[in-house]
Amino acid sequence: MRTIRGKLTAWYTAALLVALAVFAGALYVELRKPSILELDSRLELETSLALRWLQDSHRVLGRLVLGDTLLSGASSAAQGPGDLSGPSLSPSVSAYFEAYRDYLILVDRDRNILFLSESARALSFQSLRTLADQIPPELTPKAATSIPLGVPGGAVRFTVVPVSGAGEDLGAILLAAPFTNSTFDPRVLLNAILVVSPVVVVFAVALAYWLAGTALVPVRLIMDEMDAIKDGRSLHRRLAVPLSNDELARLALTLNGMLARLETSFSSLHRFTADASHELKTPLMVLRAGVERALTHPKTPSESIEALDEALEQVNQMSEMVEDLLTLARADEGRAPLTMDAMDLRELVADATETAGLLAEGQGVEVTSKVPDNPVLLPVDRQRMRELLLNLATNAVKYTPAGGSVAIELEDAPDQVRLRVADTGIGIAPGDLPHIFDRFWRADPARSRTGDRPGVGLGLSITKWIAEAHGGTIMVASRPGRGTIFTVTLPRSVEPIN
Ligand code: ADP
Repeated sequence: MRTIRGKLTAWYTAALLVALAVFAGALYVELRKPSILELDSRLELETSLALRWLQDSHRVLGRLVLGDTLLSGASSAAQGPGDLSGPSLSPSVSAYFEAYRDYLILVDRDRNILFLSESARALSFQSLRTLADQIPPELTPKAATSIPLGVPGGAVRFTVVPVSGAGEDLGAILLAAPFTNSTFDPRVLLNAILVVSPVVVVFAVALAYWLAGTALVPVRLIMDEMDAIKDGRSLHRRLAVPLSNDELARLALTLNGMLARLETSFSSLHRFTADASHELKTPLMVLRAGVERALTHPKTPSESIEALDEALEQVNQMSEMVEDLLTLARADEGRAPLTMDAMDLRELVADATETAGLLAEGQGVEVTSKVPDNPVLLPVDRQRMRELLLNLATNAVKYTPAGGSVAIELEDAPDQVRLRVADTGIGIAPGDLPHIFDRFWRADPARSRTGDRPGVGLGLSITKWIAEAHGGTIMVASRPGRGTIFTVTLPRSVEPIN
């Protein structure tokens, strides 16, 4: 039973069998009800007739009992029900009761048995005792009730009526009738069900199998389509969404959404790989050309040292880039843990201002900083936070022409700390703003990584990751030709992500 179709059929069959059983039970109860009512009214009629007969006989004959009792009270076990040696009903009266098919028991005021009908005499001693015990000691009337008498009597329905107006000797009449004689027999129903149900079950199972198969056709179609799409080159394809707007339509929509996300991440992965190879290829080519030149045209030692120097610079840039890529890859995998230490962020600002200041000196750019008077203590990863601030500060210097200025500001708010790096540089075009945190993205692709503004476009991606890993955010505001402001907001209670 490994297929959904098989499972559905099995479940349906089980449910059908349970439903059939419940239906048969309910049918049995319903069919029995009228026959029990009929039995009860028969018992009522017969007891009233018996009572009337006793009263009429008393009026004509006077005393109706002869000799001692038959069975001494309902509690006596010594006498058998067939023992007729005690007092008994006068034969001229009891002859009338012999015609009763049901169990009739007549007792005196002490519940001693005076008469048993023929069918009652045929009962076992135990059954007769059980039945006689149903007569209440106070001889109060009892409406029709069911009681099991055991094999062979089975369950009976009985009623008790006190005898009045027939002399002091008579106590009560108990009249009982077995169910099987007049009521609905469950075996009839069971037989009917046994005959009909195999046909119904076979038909229903076949129907369930067919229905399950039909219902699963769209699922099979989706599976076939997914099979065709599963190789990476077909990710642009989409599943046909059924017009039914049901669960399958939702499944197709969900899968299409997943395919769209897969396509996006596959293409960004491709782009990322292509960009990374391209960025590595250029310095490698420069390196190779330099080394080949030095080997084929050996020059003076000073020229060789110059070539080696250039080669070293290329190697440094490449290892810097590989380091950045590794950081981002680890961050993606969640394997770049932060080492959080409470520190005064003013130290970081001072450090970054100094480094950016040195860089800016040669460019004619002024770097200033503004920090609060009191320490701004925050648990951060010292190395990473330093990297974040340096990335922003060196970018600001890099993209600010001579005569411009860069301001690094630290602001302490009650629930957060803000780091702001503002420059008066070339700015970023509004259309470029959504991309600046993308990996390998640079505003002007024509800018050479070895030119006056070197870089490969990974710095801001790393900066964004560091801010977010500290539970913070980074925002940018810029106007081309006027300058750019980067604002990093860090919450006071830092829950490091990763
Ligand atoms: P890189 O600086 O190495 O190119 P980044 O990721 O640090 O890479 O920056 C991505 C791009 O964002 C830069 O190439 C530049 O076009 C733009 N950019 C970043 N900072 C500034 C800034 N302060 N002013 C203008 N443009 C900027």
